[in-house]
Amino acid sequence: MQALILEQQDGKTLASVQSVEENRLPEGNVTVDIDWSSLNYKDALAITGTGKIIRNFPMIPGIDFAGHVHSSEDPRFHPGQQVLLTGWGVGENHWGGLSTQARVNGDWLVPMPKGLDGRKAMIIGTAGFTAMLCVMALEEAGVRPDSGEVVVTGASGGVGSTAVTLLHKLGYQVAAVTGRESTHDYLRSLGANRILGREEFSETRPLEKQVWAGAVDTVGDKVLAKLLAQMNYGGCVAACGLAGGFALPTTVMPFILRNVRLQGVDSVMTPAARRTQAWERLVRDLPESFFSQSATEITLDKAPEYAEKIISNHFQGRALVKIA
Ligand code: NDP
Repeated sequence: MQALILEQQDGKTLASVQSVEENRLPEGNVTVDIDWSSLNYKDALAITGTGKIIRNFPMIPGIDFAGHVHSSEDPRFHPGQQVLLTGWGVGENHWGGLSTQARVNGDWLVPMPKGLDGRKAMIIGTAGFTAMLCVMALEEAGVRPDSGEVVVTGASGGVGSTAVTLLHKLGYQVAAVTGRESTHDYLRSLGANRILGREEFSETRPLEKQVWAGAVDTVGDKVLAKLLAQMNYGGCVAACGLAGGFALPTTVMPFILRNVRLQGVDSVMTPAARRTQAWERLVRDLPESFFSQSATEITLDKAPEYAEKIISNHFQGRALVKIA
C-alpha cells in the first residue's frame, strides 16, 4: 500500500509518501480500501510537527477517511460496503486515512449515509461533522433563527465554512469573523450576512453590549472571551477549536449575569447514535453548492504542502485528498 508516513529525526517531523507492507497495518477487525481522505487542522499540526499530536512514530496521519470494506471480521460490515470514519484517535495513535488502506475497529466505522458518497463525505470530513455538532448544540440550547444573529469565528476554515453554510441554510442571520479580507467574497457566497474582522476581537471587557444569540467558535483565547462578553441573555456558544490559542481569558460575568451557556463540542469520541444523527442532518441541511464552493482536491503527495498552507492560514475551505 502507499501511505503518507510521518517519521521523526532530530526532533523534527518528516513527511513522505512511501510503500508500506500491508502486514504492518495495526490491529483491527475491518480492513478498508480508502478512496478519499481530507486535511483538517489537527492533520496539519501532525504533518508539520507543529503540535504534539503524534507520540509514536512512524505514524500514518489522517483523522478521517471514506472508502469501501476490503475484508471484515465484524458481521456488521461486508466487502465492498461504503464506509466513513472520523475521530477515535485514528491518525493520531492508530494508523490513519492518508493511505490506500487502513485497518480499524468496526465500532469506529459509520456506514455511508444514504445521499452521500465517499468524495462528498470527505469534503465534509471531521471539520464539517464538527460544525454540524456545533449547530446541533445551539439548537439544543434553544437558539432558533428568530432568536437573533449567530456568529462564526475562524469562518473561512473547514469548521467555519461548514457552520456558515449550515446556519444560513437553516434560516439564521450569520455573521462571519475572519482575519483575511481575501475570504470575504467566499464567505458571502456561503451565506454570511455580514463579515467582521478578527482584529475587532482582541480586547474585551467582562460584559459588553449584547449582540449574539449564538456562536460557533473555532478560535478560542481572546476571541472566545470577547464572544462570551457579547452574548445575549440566555445565549449559547458552541466552542470546538483553538486555532487562535487554548487560553480563555474571561470572567464569570457572562455566566452569572446573562445566563450564557458555554457548550464544549468534541467530535473524536462522539457516541455512535449521535454520529448517525449528525450525518443524517448533514445530508439534509448542506446545500449541493457547498461541495463545489468549499473543496480543493489534492493528491496524497501534496498533503505536506497543504498542511503548511493550513498552519500558516493561507488556505480556505476544505482540502479533499484523492487516495484511490
Ligand atoms: P482550519 O485551519 O480549516 O480553519 C481555522 C481557521 O481559524 C482559519 O481558516 C482562520 O480563519 C482561523 N485562524 C487561523 N489562525 C488563527 C489565529 N492565529 N487566530 C485566530 N484565528 C485563526 O481548521 P478547522 O476548521 O479544521 O479547525 C478549526 C479548529 O477547530 C481547530 O482548532 C481544530 O483543532 C478544531 N477542531 C476541533 C474539533 C473537535 O472535535 N473539537 C474537530 C475539528 C476541528 P480566518 O482566516 O477566516 O480568520
